[in-house]
Amino acid sequence: MALELVTIPCLSDNYAFLLHDTGTGDTALIDIPAAGPILAELARRGWTLSDVWITHHHDDHVQGLGEVLAAHPARVTGAAADAHRLPPLDVQVADGDTLEFAGNTVAVMDVSGHTVGHVAYYIPAANTVFTADSLMALGCGRLFEGTAEQMWGSLTKLMALPADTLVCSGHEYTAGNAKFALTIDPDNPELISRNEQITVARATGVPTVPSTLALERATNPFLRASDPGIRSRLGMTDASDAGVFAEIRARKDAF
Ligand code: ZN
Ligand code: FE
Repeated sequence: MALELVTIPCLSDNYAFLLHDTGTGDTALIDIPAAGPILAELARRGWTLSDVWITHHHDDHVQGLGEVLAAHPARVTGAAADAHRLPPLDVQVADGDTLEFAGNTVAVMDVSGHTVGHVAYYIPAANTVFTADSLMALGCGRLFEGTAEQMWGSLTKLMALPADTLVCSGHEYTAGNAKFALTIDPDNPELISRNEQITVARATGVPTVPSTLALERATNPFLRASDPGIRSRLGMTDASDAGVFAEIRARKDAF
């Protein structure tokens, strides 16, 4: 049976996602920035939630949960490590755990860095990973709790997924991320053309999320710490990949 993916803009620049199995009718919601647009999308499609998968504890990813559950009493999954600061969980997960969704495997990946306890959900049958504020379109989450080493480790795990994986991240930050990326990697032709496509998409209100892992590997400066051109531009030819990543992250914080 087919898995259908729906991207739902919420608040000013957040995204929630629905994953729907057309055979069983099972529907998972990934993050709950705001109940209104999510409930409207479910009603419009006539879908009922079976699952909610939470990526991390920040308000802009969980605050709509109570209102959504009042209408759709679904099973709520989140990181065991964050159970003390997440809404009540029915299922607690950790790195390497798997869930079952409509007969498909969902792999839980710890992707700490933005927060410690942030998880991603990878569904091989849908070629899709929900990364929220870890790997983002042309970016990565700010390091509020974790270290640069931790985030680099998380991004390295995500980079190892198949190239055609859809990357469903949590925010529409892509246009700003592209401006920064061009300061790090100005001669990258794929980045230059992606930036042009982003400008067109945003001018017409089209989301730039999801992207693909292949595109992120080719253009996202936070995944390109081993690129010789970037290293020489930063004067860091002999640094570790994690060290180059940390420098790029620090520059973005100051951008
Ligand atoms: Zn966050
Ligand atoms: Fe966020």
